[in-house]
Amino acid sequence: MIIQLEQDILPGQLAEVQRELEARGYASTEVKTQSQHYLVGVGKKPVDIRQIGTLPGIRDIHRVSDGYKLVSKKWRVHDTILDLGDDIKIGSGHFQIMAGPCSIESEEQVSAVVDHLVANKVKIMRGGVYKPRSSPYSFRGLGQDGLKMFHRLCREQGIRIITEVMMVEQIGEMHDYVDIFQVGARNAQNFNLLDALGEVDKPVLLKRGMSGTIEELLQGAEYVFSHGNEKIMLCERGIRTYESAYRNTMDINAIAMLKKMTHLPVIADPSHGIGIRAFVEPIALASVMAGADGVIMEVHQTPEKAASDGQQTLNFVEATDAYRRIRAARALWEEF
Ligand code: PEP
Ligand code: MN
Repeated sequence: MIIQLEQDILPGQLAEVQRELEARGYASTEVKTQSQHYLVGVGKKPVDIRQIGTLPGIRDIHRVSDGYKLVSKKWRVHDTILDLGDDIKIGSGHFQIMAGPCSIESEEQVSAVVDHLVANKVKIMRGGVYKPRSSPYSFRGLGQDGLKMFHRLCREQGIRIITEVMMVEQIGEMHDYVDIFQVGARNAQNFNLLDALGEVDKPVLLKRGMSGTIEELLQGAEYVFSHGNEKIMLCERGIRTYESAYRNTMDINAIAMLKKMTHLPVIADPSHGIGIRAFVEPIALASVMAGADGVIMEVHQTPEKAASDGQQTLNFVEATDAYRRIRAARALWEEF
């Protein structure tokens, strides 16, 4: 059950609502986000919500039987829109492409990608400065200095930045240089990190864990939301299955399912989803037709020389074609 409270609810009124819930066998958690105030009720017995909903201080009340509550589509009339300023929006009809290298490598590299994005009207650049790598001997990113350089070059052109945060301790120093915090697949259930991102006032892109279920992804988002941050998008990036012909199995089903289950925007990452350059674009197109609110993809001026994930990275010519077809697919999807 989700109870939307009035912003000016009195402490006594709040206590009264909590008492009434308790009397019906419901444990309640108070959630204050940057924009709203809620009580999330968890219990088993059926309750006539009208009896609670008429108490003073309550704006609205909703029955939500899903394990995840605040991110469920059951109670929100409108899907969430993330607003990055300058009319760069994601969700509820707003579609964005995010593109850039797997890793931020050099000033020269970032400048080339920024020019390519500007020429193609792509507004959000991806690029990791803290890289989770399977081997400790692989390139692990340029860190905070790299992020500052990334930010300076993007800011000059109005390009927004999405980059991965790996630890709670990094959030503070990264905050002013980031527009969207990415939580990687390997951290999808790092609940301390998710809690901490709940305190942040910037959007969070939460990737699905390598072997995470859709429900677990939604529960991860519930951590961020219930700690105060409603600005979340979910990302399908492929899961690990028994299939070894490609890097991961892009679960297109999940995109369609998530669009029915949650009000949050759903983003597709076909680069990690299949891991093979030649198939990134078709999988992106399939994701768009499944209803994705955006696509995030790896792009580099010379993928063969990329410090990481070159095998799944498009060059500028391939990427330019992909953007055009992704936008055409989106236009077709909107007509349906
Ligand atoms: C990435 O985006 O480069 C990345 C490491 O992604 P994931 O967490 O999905 O593996
Ligand atoms: Mn990568």
